Amino acid sequence: MAIYETHCHLNHPQFESDLDQVLQRAEASGIGRLLVVGYDMASSRRAISMANTHPNVVASIGIHPEDCSDWTDDNRDELISLANSGSSKSAAWGEIGLDFHWKTHDPEVQKKVFVQQLEIAKELNLPVIIHCRDAYDETIDILEACGTTRAVLHCFTGSVVQAQRAVSLGFSLGVGGVITYKNASDVREAAAAVPLDRILLETDSPFLAPQPWRGKRNEPSYITAVTAKLAELHGLSPDKIAEATWENAASFFN
Ligand SMILES: [Zn+2]
Repeated sequence: MAIYETHCHLNHPQFESDLDQVLQRAEASGIGRLLVVGYDMASSRRAISMANTHPNVVASIGIHPEDCSDWTDDNRDELISLANSGSSKSAAWGEIGLDFHWKTHDPEVQKKVFVQQLEIAKELNLPVIIHCRDAYDETIDILEACGTTRAVLHCFTGSVVQAQRAVSLGFSLGVGGVITYKNASDVREAAAAVPLDRILLETDSPFLAPQPWRGKRNEPSYITAVTAKLAELHGLSPDKIAEATWENAASFFN
């Protein structure tokens, strides 16, 4: 059994001091590949350099809606060249999207930065990793209008109806630690309603640690709690979940 961890931020300062141990624990827990996701300029550069130095790491680059001020012409050009650089070129563009919960940046600014990055991803033929909070309908509308076909709605927390609309447009859902939270029955319902071939496993480390680690720094090895809960929801073994979601991720980020 090997697990494909499709969304972690080992490029975050919280992993600076013990990255090697975190990677060792990830491997010991059965993770065969990790996708380190960029969210601003510094983290995107670091994701690419980690992919170039760690054989099991792949990278993505992009500007998160809370970091819209990083979206300048110069940075855009640097991200495009990072996407094409090195032996481990970027596996995806993201995370990008809309965050209407924090609204660090004006929604109209967020939409502009989001759409411009979707256009670039399309030109580069890269799948996109979508961050979305309190804006599922708007986000899916934009993806549809842009003609995006390869998108994962990471850490999906929308409704069953929104999940089904996303799936009908060809998108995948990222499922992480939230499905283990007591108060997250809607998220479990959505994860159970979606066909397994549209689910990608993730942790979003260092954020959103699953139970029993909720509130602590999350790390990729905790993904086993997510696999176990998803196995329960789909009535399958954790091994089968790992195998199926590995295949999903390998073809999504090919
Ligand atoms: Zn993330």
